[in-house]
Amino acid sequence: MVHEQDILDYAAHMHCEELHMVTDEKTGLKAVVAIHNTKLGFALGGCRWIEYKSTLEATIDAIRLAQGMTYKSAIAGLPLGGGKAVLLKSKAPVDRKAYFAAFGRFLETLNGRYVTAVDSGTCIEDMDIIATQTNNVTSTSNSIYSSPDPSSLTALGVYEGIKAGVKFKFGKDSLSGVHIAVQGVGHVGYHLVKLIWQDGAKITVSDSNHILVERCVNEFKVDVVADIANIYSVDCDVFSPCALGAVLNKKSIPMINAQIIAGAANNQLGATEDAEMIADRGILYAPDFVINAGAIIYVAGQYSKISEEDSQTKIVAIAKTLQEIFECSVRERENTHRVAYAIAFERIYGKVYD
Ligand code: NAD
Repeated sequence: MVHEQDILDYAAHMHCEELHMVTDEKTGLKAVVAIHNTKLGFALGGCRWIEYKSTLEATIDAIRLAQGMTYKSAIAGLPLGGGKAVLLKSKAPVDRKAYFAAFGRFLETLNGRYVTAVDSGTCIEDMDIIATQTNNVTSTSNSIYSSPDPSSLTALGVYEGIKAGVKFKFGKDSLSGVHIAVQGVGHVGYHLVKLIWQDGAKITVSDSNHILVERCVNEFKVDVVADIANIYSVDCDVFSPCALGAVLNKKSIPMINAQIIAGAANNQLGATEDAEMIADRGILYAPDFVINAGAIIYVAGQYSKISEEDSQTKIVAIAKTLQEIFECSVRERENTHRVAYAIAFERIYGKVYD
C-alpha cells in the first residue's frame, strides 16, 4: 500500500525525477510540484487546485498525474517532459490574487524545468496572475490562440479518435447513424456532443449535473440516461467516458454494451490489467492518454507560439496515432493500452519496454 511507503521511495518507484513542496504562510499556499521526466524537454502539465484528505494523498496524485503527462506528451510526439502541480485547497477563504502570485514566484525558482497550465479548479485568470511572476505558464488570456480554454480542442481530438475507432472496427468513414453514449457533458463532453451530433451520430448522454444535461437536450438531439449508473449498459456502438477517472473497472467492464471505448477522461482504467479485460471482451479501447492529448498539444503550441492551425493539425493526427496502435495491437496480440505505453516508453527512455 502506498500510504505505508516512504513518499520518496514511491517517487523513485514511479521514476519521478523531482518533487517540490512549498508553503507560504501569508497566503495559505500549500503546493506540490512533481517533475516526472525531462528527457524529451521541460515538463509541462496543469495546475490543480482541489481539496485533498492529506498532503500524502496530494503528493501521490501529483506524482501519478505527472507521470501521465510524460507519457501523454511522448505519444503525441511533443518535445516535452511531464509534470504536474497540485495546490491543496483549504476550506478557509484565500486572497486568490496573492495566492496564485505566491505560486508564480515559486515556479520562477524552478528555472523553467516545469511550466504550468490551467487544470481542475483553476482558471485562465489564475494563469494570468501566475504570469505576473514568471514566464513559465501557458493557457493565459494573453495568447495568440482564439481561445485560451483547451477543452474544445480536447473534444476535437476525442472526436477524431472516435472516428478512427469506428473506421477500424466497422470500416465506416462517418459517424452517421453510429450510436455513441457520452458519460459527462461538462467542458469536453459538451463540445464532443456538438461535433458528433453535426456528424449525424445517435447520441445518449448522462451527467450528474441536470443543468448540463438540459443544455444538451435543448441544443442537440440526444437521449438521456436518468440514472447515471446505467450509462455503461446502454446498447450502443461507442462508450465515451468524459467525466471521471477509474470508470473502466472490474465492475463496469462486464456491463459495457459497446464495441468501442473512446473518451476524454484521464486515468480511465481502474487498474492497468483492466485493459486486458476490455480486450478479452472484444472491445476496442482508445487509450486515454493518446485520445485526450488535444489539450496538451494546444497549450504546448500556445507556449511555443506555434500557429493555431499547426496545433489543430497535430490534434487531428491523434486519429493516425490511434490507427497505428490499433493495428499494432492486432499484429502483436497485445492490448491497446500496453501497445501505446510501450511506444511512449521507447520514445522517452530509448529502450524497449518489456
Ligand atoms: P468537467 O468537470 O467540466 O466535466 C465533467 C462532467 O462529468 C461534469 O459535468 C460532471 O457533472 C460530470 N460527472 C461527474 N460524475 C459523473 C458521473 N458519475 N456520471 C456522469 N457524469 C458525471 O471536466 P472536463 O474538463 O470536461 O473533463 C472531463 C474529463 O476529461 C476529466 O476526466 C478530465 O480530467 C479529462 N480531460 C479534460 C481535458 C480538458 O481539456 N478539459 C483534457 C484532458 C483530459
